Amino acid sequence: MASPQYRAYTARNFREIPQLADWPESALKEIETVSRVLPFKTNNYVIDELIDWNDVPVDPMYTLNFPRHELLKAPHYRKMAKAVENGSPEHHLKAVARSIQLELNPDASGQSANVPLLNGHRVSGAQHKYRETVLFFPQAGQTCHAYCTFCFRWPQFSGLSHSRFSGRESGALAEYLKLHPKVTDLLITGGDPMIMKARTLAEYLEPFLTDELPHLKTIRIGTKTLAYWPYRYLTDSDSDDILRLFEKVAASGRTLAIMAHFNHPVELSTEAVRKAIARIQATGAQIRTQSPLLRHINDKPELWSRMWRKQVDFNCIPYYMFVERDTGAKHFFAVPLERCWQIFRHAYQKVSGICRTVRGPVMSATPGKVQILGVTEVADEKVFALQFIQGRNADWVGRPFFARYDKNATWLNGLRPAFGEHRFFFENELKGLLLAKMQPMG
Ligand SMILES: *Cc1c(COP(=O)(O)O)cnc(C)c1O
Ligand code: SF4
Repeated sequence: MASPQYRAYTARNFREIPQLADWPESALKEIETVSRVLPFKTNNYVIDELIDWNDVPVDPMYTLNFPRHELLKAPHYRKMAKAVENGSPEHHLKAVARSIQLELNPDASGQSANVPLLNGHRVSGAQHKYRETVLFFPQAGQTCHAYCTFCFRWPQFSGLSHSRFSGRESGALAEYLKLHPKVTDLLITGGDPMIMKARTLAEYLEPFLTDELPHLKTIRIGTKTLAYWPYRYLTDSDSDDILRLFEKVAASGRTLAIMAHFNHPVELSTEAVRKAIARIQATGAQIRTQSPLLRHINDKPELWSRMWRKQVDFNCIPYYMFVERDTGAKHFFAVPLERCWQIFRHAYQKVSGICRTVRGPVMSATPGKVQILGVTEVADEKVFALQFIQGRNADWVGRPFFARYDKNATWLNGLRPAFGEHRFFFENELKGLLLAKMQPMG
């Protein structure tokens, strides 16, 4: 099998991509213009093995990585293009880009912090929103092997916000976990933690592998490496060290779950990804899969049923189908909630029970993870039936509730309670919880 060297392409060097060699200057300028506003990064695996260049620009993997003018609303694109055309000085281009970025709801991902406190000090790089699960954002894992054009972390990659949450080391978090026996799961996320060298990842992981944390049963790592750079587990210089590290987690008596991000079945089609999955599984780790639902990339039920089926064929466990968050290029990728539900259920109907471990469509929102159960009619009113899969208060989970039907709604904050009620059942309590969380931070 080929063992290519990783090569990243960004706004700085994308003109060196061989497949763009005969592209007209106007098309290259379009990429340059948009990438001033939204972060752009791809790599030689995506370009050589995933994108079907005969199908560009509609190809889903091309759409997943490459900037195009539609990612910006027309007035934003015109404003940026004009500045680029005029050959404005760098500081002016930066100022124009910044003014546009600030209009793209950059704070949507700034989940009200829920930063854990240890002896009155904030544990940096961690978030504790749900009782059983703590998130950790290692500083060294705050980038990815390529950037998804829909990613809600775009403000961090474009330098607009500094990865506020990132932590330099995990010792303080391990101490916090010792005092919180209800926490069973640690979820390591990014960017992409698997961008780290094996040695660095080991330093972050080791404090959690101690016998003093018997309640910590599962360590999850959220990653898109299986889709963007499967050679991470095959032929990188420290690939074997990564696999040994995974074995070490298993040897500590814990389950290591690789939360793999796959957006499209083509990402499961290469020899490299198949082998990488098998090598990870041979360490005792399990792989669970998740993806947002995205217009222009995967908004067809057949793609999802194929994707879930293939994942299960590779011994992976389908986990979440997410609704895309309201930030960045949302207008390009958004799928109305009703359509999300239709796509989910038509895909779900086509697969056997073994694939139906997947939950969706799910909005990971301020109060929790809200699942759209469907559109129905209750007492002559057309409504959305919803439920929490995760909640800031665990007691919210699993209770059906109803929102007035709205055919254009694309997110929870666009929904109103059904039956003329003024508030959803959780809203008063949520306000209290959010206020309480603010106190320690002043
Ligand atoms: C999704 C999520 C988790 C994990 O929830 P599970 O239902 O256990 O997968 C934890 N913290 C945050 C903030 C999340 O969004
Ligand atoms: S891999 Fe994940 S964090 Fe990185 S750009 Fe894609 S969605 Fe964002």
